[in-house]
Amino acid sequence: MPFATTTLPSGEAVPTLGQGTWMMGEDRNRAADEVAAIRLELDLGVTLIDTAEMYGSGGAEKVVGEAIAGRRDEVFLVSKVLPSNASRNGVIRACEASLKRMHTDRIDLYLLHWRGGVPLSETIAVFEELRQSGKIRHWGVSNFDADDMEELNRLSRGSACQSNQVLYNLTRRGIEFDLVPWSRERGMPVMAYSPVEQGALASNKGLVNIAARHDATAAQIALAWVLAQTGVIAIPKATRLEHVRQNAAARDIRLTTEDLAELDRLFPPPSRKRPLEMI
Ligand code: NAP
Repeated sequence: MPFATTTLPSGEAVPTLGQGTWMMGEDRNRAADEVAAIRLELDLGVTLIDTAEMYGSGGAEKVVGEAIAGRRDEVFLVSKVLPSNASRNGVIRACEASLKRMHTDRIDLYLLHWRGGVPLSETIAVFEELRQSGKIRHWGVSNFDADDMEELNRLSRGSACQSNQVLYNLTRRGIEFDLVPWSRERGMPVMAYSPVEQGALASNKGLVNIAARHDATAAQIALAWVLAQTGVIAIPKATRLEHVRQNAAARDIRLTTEDLAELDRLFPPPSRKRPLEMI
């Protein structure tokens, strides 16, 4: 069975399960294990990779470059530029450095990591330049709340944004009040980071009970719930090969109406606006 995909505003289909790389590339002694984890993900068809110039100060991108060597065409590669590099010259320099570290000629989706002091219009203009030259194929943002998205959308070429990467999991459902509906209306996927709350949901008692009904783990149920949300891409990070396999297998878990109702009781959806949470 083909793996589930969602569609970017550009019309391109992208997988709804990807892999994160935060905390990778920080220690050369762990690099071989990290490369092996990413390669196993690719073998299991988890082909969207999320990284950033910030992670391991470039170290994570180097690990990614090593892992995807010879397999670049299998991968939908996402990286991010720091707000401190979001000026015209800063973005061009940062993008070149990311491409070099990952030994590639293109980034599939390049995100502004979070909003900083540089006017959004300047960053969008250079993203568009990089897109036209083929160094990036699409651009987007991260940690933007609904009002930030409105502001972005009003700027020239702002509507060319392809995704917003934000904190989203069962314990962080605030975005369902406004940001998720806003994004769905525009056919723009939300990319959910920390989908297992940095590992904390793996020991959640309520999830353990539901997991028992599916012969699964609590972390898999947390991930299956994110994957069940329309127009959402989940990017868990896993270095342990057992976790990599479990996360890939979470694509096959079908939560029942009863499971979903129980999850809503355990982790209630928002009834009012909450400011966007960030990690
Ligand atoms: P996460 O994916 O929710 O959790 C990662 C932690 O959970 C790791 O300790 C991992 O352990 C563990 N884990 C993974 N799968 C598991 C499983 N099946 N069972 C039990 N434990 C499991 O948190 P995250 O790394 O913060 O978020 C994911 C990715 O989102 C990041 O890596 C990064 O790419 C991105 N992100 C973006 C932003 C942003 O501002 N845009 C912020 C945070 C994160 P092992 O590694 O030991 O396997």
